[in-house]
Amino acid sequence: MPSPRFHLRFDLRRLILLLTITTALLTLANTFYASYLVQQDLLIRESLEANRVYAVKLAETTEHFLAGSRQQLAFSASQLSERMDDSTVLTQEVDRLRLQTANFNSVLVVDATGTVLATSPQTLQLVSRQLKSPGALQALREQRPLISAPYISAAGNLVVNISHPIRDRQGHYLGYLGASIYLQQNNILYNLLGEHHYKDGSYLYVVDREGGLLYHPDPARIGEVVHGNPVIEAVNQGHTGSQRLVNSRGVDMLAGYAPVTSTGWGVVAQRPTASVLAKLESLMLGVLRNAIPFSLLSLLAIWGLARLIAQPLSQLANTARQLDSPAASEELGKVRSWYYEAAQLKRALLAGLTLLQQKIGKLNLDSLTDPLSGLLNRRGLQITLEQWRAREQPFAVLALDIDHFKQINDNHGHEIGDQAIRHLADLMRECSRRDDVLCRSGGEEFIMLLPGTGLEGACLTAERLRLRTEASEAPGGIRFTVSAGVAHWPACGQTVEGILQLADQALYRAKREGRNRVGRAEEQVAPLA
Ligand code: GH3
Ligand code: MG
Ligand code: MG
Repeated sequence: MPSPRFHLRFDLRRLILLLTITTALLTLANTFYASYLVQQDLLIRESLEANRVYAVKLAETTEHFLAGSRQQLAFSASQLSERMDDSTVLTQEVDRLRLQTANFNSVLVVDATGTVLATSPQTLQLVSRQLKSPGALQALREQRPLISAPYISAAGNLVVNISHPIRDRQGHYLGYLGASIYLQQNNILYNLLGEHHYKDGSYLYVVDREGGLLYHPDPARIGEVVHGNPVIEAVNQGHTGSQRLVNSRGVDMLAGYAPVTSTGWGVVAQRPTASVLAKLESLMLGVLRNAIPFSLLSLLAIWGLARLIAQPLSQLANTARQLDSPAASEELGKVRSWYYEAAQLKRALLAGLTLLQQKIGKLNLDSLTDPLSGLLNRRGLQITLEQWRAREQPFAVLALDIDHFKQINDNHGHEIGDQAIRHLADLMRECSRRDDVLCRSGGEEFIMLLPGTGLEGACLTAERLRLRTEASEAPGGIRFTVSAGVAHWPACGQTVEGILQLADQALYRAKREGRNRVGRAEEQVAPLA
C-alpha cells in the first residue's frame, strides 16, 4: 500500500501571506508591548506623584494643627501667669482647653517644682503630685515651648506632650501649661493621620524622628522601629519626594513622603504597585478589543492583495507547465499581468510559445510536403484521405503519370527531368480549385483529390490538364504528355484504398491504349432491392 505523503506546497501567495501576516503580528505585538511599557510608566509616575502630594498635604495640615495648638497654649499661659494661686481658675482654664476643641486628650498646669496644680480631666488624680515623666522633666529643665518625643505614659498611652512655659511679668519661671495628645485615641491628630480607609490597598503611616511607627493601619506595629527602609531614612533627613520600593514585608510599593518639620516626624503615603498596575490589564484589554476589528480588516485586505499579486505569476506558472497544450496561447492571453515582472514574463512566454509553434508547424509541413514540387507527399495524401473518410467527404481521384519520362531523363538529363516534374506541378495548380488536394505520390506519378466533384467533372478536369500539358512547353524547351486515370468515392467503390487502385488501373489502361489520354473507372450500379 503506498504510504500517504503530505506536501506543504509553498507558492507565492502563501509566501506573501506568511510574510505580511508575520510582519503585521510582530508589529502589533511590538506596538502592544511598547504601549504597555508607556502606560505602565505613566501609571507609576502618576501614582508616585499623587502619593507625594498627599503626604505633603498631610504633613502641612499636621504642621498647622501643631502650630495652632501651641498658639492656644501660649495664649492661655499668658492669661494664667497672674492666677497661679487660684485653683478654680486654673481648673476652668484646663477644662476649657481640653473640651473646647478636640485637640488635646489631657491638659495640666505644673508649677516650677514639677507639682501638678490642676488637671483636666480631673480623673487623672495627679493634683499635688510631682511629675517624673520624661516630658515633664524636659519642660522644667528647658523652660521653653516644647513638643516632646512620643513616649508611653504612666497610664500606658502612647502620648506626645506639648508644653508652654508660664512666666510672670518680670519673666520669672512659674511652671508650665502642658497638654497631652494620645496618639491612639480620638482627637484631631488621630482623625488626621490615624484613620485612612482605602479599597485600593493604599495606606498611610507616620514615623517619629527615630523611625518608630506612630500611626500605621496595623495597630500591632505601632511603636515598632523600622530599619533599612529608604523612604523612612529620606523623610527622617527632612526630604520630600517619592520612590518605588520593596517594603519590610516584601511588597512592591509606590511611596510619597514629606516631613513634619516641627516634630521631625515623617508622613508616608503608599500604594502597592500591583494594585496600580491592575488597572493596566483592563486598559490593555481595551486596546486589544479596539484593535481587533481593524486588524481583521487589515488581514482581509492583505489576503486580497496577496491574491492579486500572486495570481498573474501563478497563472503564468500553470500555463508554463503545459506549454505543449493547444490552449496554451489562449491561456497565456487571458493572464492579467498588471505589474512589471508579470508583464515581462508573459511577453517572454508568449514570444517563446509563438516561436515554438512556428517551429512545430514548419516541421509538420516539411514532413508532409515534397520538396521538389511543393505538392503534398504520400504522407500528406494519406492524412487527407483519413480525414475525408472520417467526415464522409465524397471525392474524385485523378492518378497522373508522365509519358516516357525515362526518355526525358535519358535525352536531356536528370535536371531537366526535375524541371519537367515542377512544370507539371504548376499546371496541376492552374487546373485545380482551392479545395483540391495535389500530391506527388512517386517519381513522375501524381494524384489529385477533388472534393465534391463527380466522376464526370473529374474527367473534364483530367482532360483539361492533359490538353494543357500537351500544349505547353516545359523548361529546356521540351514537351511531354501525361496519362490519367479517374475514379470516384463512393460512386466507384466502397473503400478509399479500392478507389485509389481503381484510378491506377484506369491510368494503366490509358497507358496501354497509347498514352496521352484519360482512363475512367466504372461507376458501380447500385444493386436493385
Ligand atoms: P511510361 O510512359 O510507361 O510511364 O514510361 P516512363 O519512362 O515514364 O516509365 P518508367 O516508370 O519506366 O520511368 C520512370 C522514370 O522516372 C525512371 C526514373 O529514372 C525517373 N525518375 C523517377 N523519379 C525521378 C525524379 O525525381 N527526377 C527525375 N529526373 N527522374 C525521375
Ligand atoms: Mg511511372
Ligand atoms: Mg511514366
